[in-house]
Amino acid sequence: MTDNDVKGRIFDIQRYSIHDGRGIRTIVFLKGCVLRCRWCCNPESQSYEIQTMKTQDGVKTVGRDVTVGEVMETVERDRGYYRRSGGGLTLSGGESLCQPEFALALLREAKSRGISTAIESMGCAEWSTVEKLLPYIDQYLLDIKHTNPQKHREFTGKSNELMLENAKKIAASGLTELTVRVPVVPTFNASREEIAAIARFADALSGVAGLHLLPYHRLGQDKYEGLGREYSMADIVPPSGELMNELLETAKANCNLHCQIGG
Ligand code: SF4
Repeated sequence: MTDNDVKGRIFDIQRYSIHDGRGIRTIVFLKGCVLRCRWCCNPESQSYEIQTMKTQDGVKTVGRDVTVGEVMETVERDRGYYRRSGGGLTLSGGESLCQPEFALALLREAKSRGISTAIESMGCAEWSTVEKLLPYIDQYLLDIKHTNPQKHREFTGKSNELMLENAKKIAASGLTELTVRVPVVPTFNASREEIAAIARFADALSGVAGLHLLPYHRLGQDKYEGLGREYSMADIVPPSGELMNELLETAKANCNLHCQIGG
């Protein structure tokens, strides 16, 4: 069996993205995640199961099984844009590491075709899994949501020890360009102390390319209703521009990395 024959489960492919890695990119969203972040804007990504979701246009099936070769047919369509912009393929989710064989085959196939690769991930898998993928990832966009294990567990369902350990190992490997991304979520981590702690952690990693603060938004709210789930963040107001600027200054004051708002 070749990499092109490996099957996996995705719920979307988005072309022409400019926020998830360098240049113009095609984002492949893999189904399944081990966390249950309260603010998740893609709740349809969390379960590995194929689901139905009510939308304005009717009931939609979320999730389909595809081969790497089928995904690459779509990815190949924008090869000209990747060449001109420095873009390529980005794996997202969910957490791509929940389908390690599929993610590996996608990344390896893209690299063998000369297409640059990126992954958006919080690094929540055994190190032996992460390690296998690293040689095929040009850019690792690593979510670090909090430095406190208890608070991380309270808001996402899991402690962060494994993720923070993996962050150190990914950085030390030198195999990929590492960017730390922080979802800034009021009541969870949108304070100076919490952002300062994340910035200091990121600063202590070797060779981090940058620290991106991503403001919480409510764009996923309707999807919760569509899935018949309660949206527990309904009362949480997204951070103001003023607060984001304050937190950006805090991040800059606590690390020597390039810091910015947005991806
Ligand atoms: S890690 Fe990402 S995909 Fe998974 S639940 Fe959290 S926000 Fe959603």
